[in-house]
Amino acid sequence: MQYSPNIEKLKPSATIAVSTLAKKLAAEGRDIVNLSAGEPDFDTPVFITDAAVEGIRSGRTRYTPPAGLPELRKVIAERLSDRAGRVIDWNGVVVTAGVKQALFNTFFTLFGPGDEVLIAAPYWTTYPDLVNIARAEPVPVFGAEDNAFKVTTTDLEGAVTDKTRGLVLNTPSNPTGAVYSIGELDVIAQWARDRGIWLISDEIYRSVYHGSDRTAAPGVLDVPEASLGDFVLVDGASKSYAMTGWRLGYSYSSGAVAQKFSALQSQITSNTTTTSQVAAIEAFGNVQAADASIAAMGEAFTRRRDLVTRRMSELMPGVPFIRPEGAFYLYFRVDGFFDEEVTSGTSWCARLLEQQGVALVPGAAFGDDRWVRMSFASSDEALEEALVRIAAMTGAAV
Ligand code: PLP
Repeated sequence: MQYSPNIEKLKPSATIAVSTLAKKLAAEGRDIVNLSAGEPDFDTPVFITDAAVEGIRSGRTRYTPPAGLPELRKVIAERLSDRAGRVIDWNGVVVTAGVKQALFNTFFTLFGPGDEVLIAAPYWTTYPDLVNIARAEPVPVFGAEDNAFKVTTTDLEGAVTDKTRGLVLNTPSNPTGAVYSIGELDVIAQWARDRGIWLISDEIYRSVYHGSDRTAAPGVLDVPEASLGDFVLVDGASKSYAMTGWRLGYSYSSGAVAQKFSALQSQITSNTTTTSQVAAIEAFGNVQAADASIAAMGEAFTRRRDLVTRRMSELMPGVPFIRPEGAFYLYFRVDGFFDEEVTSGTSWCARLLEQQGVALVPGAAFGDDRWVRMSFASSDEALEEALVRIAAMTGAAV
């Protein structure tokens, strides 16, 4: 069958593939500890679900404008203004069916054949695929391992060409949990501005932050306005509010770009569901309740971060890992366990699932198959059990 070149390089999401296999094995009766999924293990807070139910009951069930309910766009802009310390124009906000759609809009609108898009690596598995769908060229740029893989302008200089049109940054990072400081972001923003390169900043894990002040990780709006050239900020409700299934994301860009995103959406999905938008008005608008939920979930995530990093060091001393400062992933290196049969993170994960019933995501999904990713958005007991099983397979003393 001859398909369109649009999907020539398309492959299904690697992370979703592992998690689907793990769920299938569990359904067949296998004792599986599934740490492959990238979603909070909490239910959506009740103050949000109540607002959604009330919205349905009161007839808020029709189409909305493609860019979202003005009320929601304004509430999002208010929150962004609080962060930025300046007025953020709500006309730049476009509500999407998850950050995935915001990224699709961005890549598809801004880039095309002949363009190169730098992607800070290791990267969230979807970025290169979405750039491919736009028929542009994804170019991974790895930072140094001893800098938690955060890229610097020196790393970027080594990859930039006269075809470079975009740079994708994700902070806190999936899969490493690394967090860029305001200073680091500032330097990178200026670098992109000076070269006329679009900065795409994915800040979906911003509220899942383990910093000592426990507020939120720095983002592109914390950078002085003068440092910023063209940029698109993407964020959403999935991770901060445990709302993965609601499909609620947004982008913030200039008003002109937002109009293009809105026009694109008007032809493909119209709006994301009205119910999710009504729920999101409450999530973003009820600051007191939202802060309390984010703090409660954040406390659990930080406790688990401490648990997995401590137990890694105790059970598998010497195995390199990145200490996560944000998000809920532990990224660790397994090439020290490779043997004749197992020569990649992919085959190591397959063996782990087969022998120990633990599902992790191989680093191939993130651009480096010497590493693997464990989600710690799971119960303390599941995490402890998984680490003991992994240590048993690796031959570490437990
Ligand atoms: N960006 C990153 C870095 C992610 O890890 C994910 C989901 O795992 C997304 C975006 C997509 O989020 P959404 O559920 O809003 O589409």
